[in-house]
Order: sequence, then structure tokens, then C-alpha cells
Amino acid sequence: MIEDSLFTIENLNVWYRQKNRIVHALKDVTLKIPARKLTVIIGRSGSGKSTFLRTLNRVVEMYDAKISGKILYRGQDVFKMNPQILRSKVVMVLQRPIALPMSIYDNIAYPLKSIKKVKDKREIDRKVEEALKLANLWEEVKDRLHHPATQLSGGQIQRLAIARAIALDPEVLLLDEPTAHLDPESTRYIENTILKLKERVDIIFVTHSIEQARRLAEYVIYFEDGRVIEEGPAEEVLERPRTDRLRRFLSVFDREELERAVEV
Ligand code: ADP
Ligand code: MG
Repeated sequence: MIEDSLFTIENLNVWYRQKNRIVHALKDVTLKIPARKLTVIIGRSGSGKSTFLRTLNRVVEMYDAKISGKILYRGQDVFKMNPQILRSKVVMVLQRPIALPMSIYDNIAYPLKSIKKVKDKREIDRKVEEALKLANLWEEVKDRLHHPATQLSGGQIQRLAIARAIALDPEVLLLDEPTAHLDPESTRYIENTILKLKERVDIIFVTHSIEQARRLAEYVIYFEDGRVIEEGPAEEVLERPRTDRLRRFLSVFDREELERAVEV
């Protein structure tokens, strides 16, 4: 049988321990994320979007967190998988990625050597070039591959982080608001990168922008206060929301985006 669900999630709960209280960040999340569809997660700040991504590859276990429930990745129980192997297949790019304090080239070559144990210099050269091309960064950096990566702009560092992840040949890429701090031009670059990458890797993408969701999403999940309120094909969820909660969220967002657009 072909497993058409990328992730199958049942009754997932996550609690964080904060100083003197417990925060219930994900509440009974049950859903399926389809394979080969660009999935976009929307919701207000604090609704659990980042926690949800972190839980899919078990990075959440590095926090002071308690987890219950079930997650299957292509039919396999993730809590029975070796976390290192899981994280090499399901790779997350952080909301504010950093350029490692080394050259642009080494930012990609270093994880290739340390995580993937690639040793052949020509193979590494090839991978670095391929990843930078896929991330739409090659043209801008090909003549200064050995310059410090810390000199790159915010938008370039975001693409460098995507290139670093892609070079590891992940099966799934988790992107947490990759354009949250970028100007419109860098945002367009990242969106083009994502559209190109979705042909070869499953992507789950968190965004604060409904307009961006409309441009990219094939499947949409809406989170509110740790719960999934709606999920389904993008055109249904975004254009014909079933719940008042999502309708309210979409109208508030449309208004805010309109106001932002007028300000610029
Ligand atoms: P979003 O990405 O939608 O903004 P988060 O997943 O970051 O939401 O946060 C969900 C809830 O969990 C919030 O109440 C937040 O304060 C809390 N939270 C997130 N990360 C941590 C953490 N590392 N430690 C404690 N609480 C956290
Ligand atoms: Mg977040």
C-alpha cells in the first residue's frame, strides 16, 4: 500500500514547564498531513505553530517539555525511531537562522562532513553548488564562496540556511516563518525557492501572512490556542472557512495586511 499521509497525528499534547507554571502548548491535535503537498500552517502568535513543527522531528524533546500522543511519519512511529535518523530526514530551518562563523562554502560543507560524513572534496563541491542553486543564492555568492558568511544580508542568510538543510538531502523540510523579518524582494526570492524545492522535498511551512499562504499553500492547517481549528485543501480553508474562529482570523488579517500595504 502506498502511504499517502506524510504525518498522521493522534491526540498530540505538548506541555512546557515555564518558571512556575505549565503551559499547555498543543491540545489534542489530531490530523493527517498529506504527502507531496505544500502544507502551510497559519495562526496567531503563541498558537503553537513552532511547537508543532518542533514536535514532528522531536526537537521539542530538547526543551523542558512533556509530550503525549502519537505521530506516524510515513507509517512509522516517530517516538520509536532513532531521533538522529528522524532529524536527518525531517529537517527544520529556524525562524532566525544564523550564519555559522565560517565561509559561505563551509556553512554548507561543514554539516555535510560532520552529519553526512561526506569526505570526497569533489562531491562536497558539487553538493555545495547544487544546494546554493536550489536555494536561489548561487548567482549572488559564487564569486565569494570563501568569504565569511556573516557578511550576508538577512535574506541571504535565510537562503543559506535553506541551502544548508537541502544539502543534507532531507525528505521533509520544516520552515518556520522564513520570511518574517525580510523585505518584499527577499521574501519573493524565498517563495520562489520554496516553489522550486517542493518538487523534490515535502515542505511544511509556517507563515504569519495570509497573502503568503494564498500564494503558496496547497494544504492549510489553522491553529488557535494550541488546537487545530481547521485543516484541508487551501482553496477550501482559505476561501470557504467553516468556523467563525477562522473567518474572524482571516478578516482581521486581511485588514492588517491592507493597513500594512497602505503604510508602505
Ligand atoms: P507560535 O509559533 O504559534 O507563535 P509557539 O509554539 O512558539 O507558538 O508557542 C506556543 C505556546 O508555548 C506559547 O504559550 C509559548 O509561550 C509557549 N512556549 C513556546 N516555546 C516555549 C519554550 N521553549 N518554553 C516554554 N514555553 C514555550
Ligand atoms: Mg513561532
